[in-house]
Amino acid sequence: MKIRIANDDIQSLEVRRLERVSGEDVKRCYQCGNCSGGCPVSYAMEIPPTKVMRFLQLGNIEDVRKANTMWLCVGCLQCYSRCPQGVSVAAILEGLRQEVLRKGASKTEVRDVPFPFLKKAPQQAIVCGFRKFVG
Ligand code: SF4
Ligand code: SF4
Repeated sequence: MKIRIANDDIQSLEVRRLERVSGEDVKRCYQCGNCSGGCPVSYAMEIPPTKVMRFLQLGNIEDVRKANTMWLCVGCLQCYSRCPQGVSVAAILEGLRQEVLRKGASKTEVRDVPFPFLKKAPQQAIVCGFRKFVG
């Protein structure tokens, strides 16, 4: 597949903003693949962590936003612990989630969660889940 890359994409202001929010520098990634190899949920991600980094390096933040990746990330930091460059894909995905949540795109509310689940689920799971989906 041929991909056309414009200079404006590489200099994407949106990617620069994400770097500021997450504290990460996407250019540091050299595509070794360790993050995807260790990620426990990469098998279900539409764009796995290594590819997320490549897409962002190429300024393609739009496809990363549309993918389910940021919502499937469980924040285990395995990607960060395995990265030889000290890059945290987790922080980047958190930055993307915060951006979406601040725009009010998530409609998740406590009343949407089935009561039997709320009764049985550990408190930590509920707090973590709402932090992730509500912001
Ligand atoms: S923090 Fe997210 S992206 Fe990183 S290894 Fe864990 S689930 Fe995968
Ligand atoms: S482990 Fe680090 S350097 Fe390797 S692909 Fe992932 S982010 Fe890039």
